Amino acid sequence: MEQASYPTVILGGGFAGLFTALHLSHQNDSHPIILIEQRDRFSFKPLLYELLSGELHSEQVYPRYKELLAGSRVTFVQDTVKSIDLHQRRVIVASGKVFDYSNLVLALGSRTTYFNTPGAAEYAMPFTSGEEAIALRKHLRNRLHLAIQTQDPKRRRLLLSVAIIGAGPAGIELACTLADLLPIWYDELGGDADEVRVVLVNRSREILKGDVNSHLRCTAQRALKRRVIPVDFLFDAAVTKIQADGVEYRQHDQTRVLQAGTIAWTAGTSPNPLLMELPILVERRDKRGRLMVTPTLQLPDFPEVFASGDCATDSDNPQPPTAQVAYQHGRAIAHNLKHIREGKPAIPVQIQMRGTLMKLGLNESVANLFNKVQIKGQPGHFIREATYLELLPNRAHNRKVTTEWLTDELFQRHRPFSHMQLGQTPWLSGVATLAAGLILATPLIWRAATPMQFQQTLGWTGLPMLLDQLATPSR
Ligand SMILES: Cc1cc2nc3c(=O)[nH]c(=O)nc-3n(C[C@H](O)[C@H](O)[C@H](O)COP(=O)(O)OP(=O)(O)OC[C@H]3O[C@@H](n4cnc5c(N)ncnc54)[C@H](O)[C@@H]3O)c2cc1C
Repeated sequence: MEQASYPTVILGGGFAGLFTALHLSHQNDSHPIILIEQRDRFSFKPLLYELLSGELHSEQVYPRYKELLAGSRVTFVQDTVKSIDLHQRRVIVASGKVFDYSNLVLALGSRTTYFNTPGAAEYAMPFTSGEEAIALRKHLRNRLHLAIQTQDPKRRRLLLSVAIIGAGPAGIELACTLADLLPIWYDELGGDADEVRVVLVNRSREILKGDVNSHLRCTAQRALKRRVIPVDFLFDAAVTKIQADGVEYRQHDQTRVLQAGTIAWTAGTSPNPLLMELPILVERRDKRGRLMVTPTLQLPDFPEVFASGDCATDSDNPQPPTAQVAYQHGRAIAHNLKHIREGKPAIPVQIQMRGTLMKLGLNESVANLFNKVQIKGQPGHFIREATYLELLPNRAHNRKVTTEWLTDELFQRHRPFSHMQLGQTPWLSGVATLAAGLILATPLIWRAATPMQFQQTLGWTGLPMLLDQLATPSR
């Protein structure tokens, strides 16, 4: 077969890979597209907290690829990539199948790293996929059920203590969510909610250090203290070992142990190990091992290969590893592949970093618009969820999910926290929030349902452009 007639093969169906595939599929072209992904469901990572808490259900934030890709030109292969031969232009998967390609898109994301901390891989629970969010939920439920049956107060305290390692955005969002959620779950079982403890463990004194959200530090710090049970901080603590029921750490030259029945790990990621096996020189990688790409997202020595999302870095224009960047990479790669097939030059990618969003508890978020305005509390929560739901990959799926979400918000259906109130919303403020929700959600639904009409009718107001800019927020 002629090399050019081989398919475009995309490895990894996260934000970068899935969106490359969907954008390619929308092009007026018949070139075959193969997406190879190890899982059967897409994890919408920014909304994993909602999957854990039950605020959103799995069809909304953990949909099957089969559903997302229905009606598209993408051939979905559920398998694990085992080796990539850049010279032979060939990929081999676990089942033994071989895929030759004309173009390859590397979108394999990153992995949790435990920095060789003894016991971490065995006893700490990662939080990076739908599967892991569901596993953490089951584990926490189990701990609460055991606690309610336990007479020994010391043992009960251990079962009810959660340690979260890492005070980056994921650690903070998880801590805020659990500090609202666990007291409610425990109260529903008949337990004393005040016995629940959530501890945020961090190597340095600073939270959100070096993160795109670092300017939200004060807001996050305040939110951590204002949960149903305030989050405890254990800072300047270098974790040295994870045990079945505790975290050993070094602080002020002393070794101590924090007893905890649940240990969640959000402290670090490293590039996918398959990238390390590629014949790419160290000079063509950053210090974490991510692949350096040209401004058009191609590998300098293998221009038929694109790298994207958490796998890639452009040394002239480095970007944080976020969904917003991965999503834009996907769109740009699809565009450049089209150009290449038409014999035109590939175009450098312009990444636009927009506002940031953080979940700071149940029904509470901060939306940081263009780094200028912070919208907090329930209105922030509406903006965050509506913005993310609008970003969901497939338009039919998106419309269904957005409508379900709005119904849930307005009529409080599927709420996981019915009888213990979260900061009891006064009646008037509830009405105001509802009104804000309606005002915010209506254009989003209209835009999702009939984008052309929305653009034509409201183009003059600047709202479509504002929503476009908000539609791909970072962490
Ligand atoms: C808890 C959490 C919250 C986050 N919140 C935000 C947020 O609010 N905003 C934001 O912008 N970013 C957020 N991020 C970061 C963001 O999700 C990532 O930067 C983004 O997902 C990167 O996209 P990607 O496509 O490069 O990789 P991924 O989305 O990780 O996708 C990689 C895919 O490759 C697949 N894969 C890996 N190895 C193989 C293999 N050998 N064979 C086959 N398939 C394979 C994986 O299963 C996965 O589906 C968050 C991340 C986490 C973990």
